[in-house]
Amino acid sequence: MNTTKSTISTNNTDLSIYDVIVIGLGGSGISTLYYLAKAGYKVLGLEKFDIPHKNGSSHGDSRIIRQCYYEGVEYVPFVLEAYKLWEELEKESGEVLFNKTGCISFGNSKSNPIIGMQKSASVYNLPVKNYTSEEINKRFPLFKVKEDICGVYEDNGGVLNPDKCVNAYYQLVKRINNAEIITNTDVSKVLKSKLGSDYNYEVVTAAMGMDTRVYKSKKVIISAGSYLNTLLEASFNYTLPLEIERQLVTYCKYKDGRTHKNIPVYVGDINNTEFYGFPDLGVGFKFAFHHKGRKTKRVEEVDRNIREEERDAIFDFFPNVFSDFSKDTIDVVKEETCLYTNSPDKDFIIDYLNNDENLICISACSGHGFKFTSAVGKYIHDMIVNKRFIEFFSLKRFKGMKGSPKF
Ligand SMILES: Cc1cc2nc3c(=O)[nH]c(=O)nc-3n(C[C@H](O)[C@H](O)[C@H](O)COP(=O)(O)OP(=O)(O)OC[C@H]3O[C@@H](n4cnc5c(N)ncnc54)[C@H](O)[C@@H]3O)c2cc1C
Repeated sequence: MNTTKSTISTNNTDLSIYDVIVIGLGGSGISTLYYLAKAGYKVLGLEKFDIPHKNGSSHGDSRIIRQCYYEGVEYVPFVLEAYKLWEELEKESGEVLFNKTGCISFGNSKSNPIIGMQKSASVYNLPVKNYTSEEINKRFPLFKVKEDICGVYEDNGGVLNPDKCVNAYYQLVKRINNAEIITNTDVSKVLKSKLGSDYNYEVVTAAMGMDTRVYKSKKVIISAGSYLNTLLEASFNYTLPLEIERQLVTYCKYKDGRTHKNIPVYVGDINNTEFYGFPDLGVGFKFAFHHKGRKTKRVEEVDRNIREEERDAIFDFFPNVFSDFSKDTIDVVKEETCLYTNSPDKDFIIDYLNNDENLICISACSGHGFKFTSAVGKYIHDMIVNKRFIEFFSLKRFKGMKGSPKF
């Protein structure tokens, strides 16, 4: 077990009471812990596994980051903030976290990645270039898209390394005296404290082979990724309208040795099928469908086994994107599974729970959250310190929906 010792807090007299406990230290939780610890709060971070680890959503060597956000113009200021914070993290940690490759989106001229990206670029005055299919195929030889497909390119897109980003925050938090982290510890419940207590919540944990422990805190942040509903159900007897989507990610190499290291990251929607991918960062070029995975309500039901039909689906669809792509020309060199936690509209949920400003939940996923996790941590800091609140992430949009808590 890794721990860092806490000392005093700026505003606590009872040393056994934390100002904030953060549950779940993937990308969102670890950055939240960092910005709160840096601001002088006495914080405790609790993580079920090691940091980083492969069982959640914030692991591996690559996550796309891009500015002209086709999923909604509302995300643009948030992602610009995230870029600034990733840059600061690089400086503070001395680690290279971001690889600028450019980003291209594909689709027909009416598709969301094309229209949405152009809209975000235009509203925020961000530079983009438009490409025809002929220009795409000539300029980037991995791709061979059909005539009705076009592209929008932005220069500032690229790749974040999630393992390194999470670890960079982790190493920095470990140096802060008022921060404590306990790994390999499962939070089983969050309980409201008794009336009149000088703390608001009790967080109940069980570490492997150890007794149950109870930690007291004024505020609790739940950033448990796919396990969010498991914890909410155990703690408050309700769940949020979320679904867990198991994703298959494939790494390939051409049998003849062709490599594609100098291409942009890409996102797209062709024939109503969304996908994304990366240049070859060493292992092979990595790509996946976006939102075509098997869905379950509970993380415990996820089946990580890869079926032959999933592999076949790749060879059926990706000739629409890549040149000369078939079982005869391609070797699959690696396969991974990973979890999306989707909200009904695929936008983030960052809000207070139970009408209590001392309890915040983060479900910044739906398969596009990693790039924002630096800004998410800073935002939680600002929610606590300055009462900043972004309506767009509020749970109120699901009011009355089946599976939503009562507001
Ligand atoms: C295949 C794949 C590709 C993706 N590609 C991109 C991309 O290109 N760009 C992008 O921006 N985003 C991408 N995403 C989405 C992004 O990775 C996620 O949105 C993001 O990592 C979510 O971070 P999180 O901290 O909210 O959740 P997680 O990383 O899942 O962290 C939650 C943490 O909580 C811990 N936890 C849970 N329950 C408990 C408990 N009871 N007690 C203690 N700890 C607990 C878990 O162990 C975990 O560490 C992708 C996701 C996947 C799966």
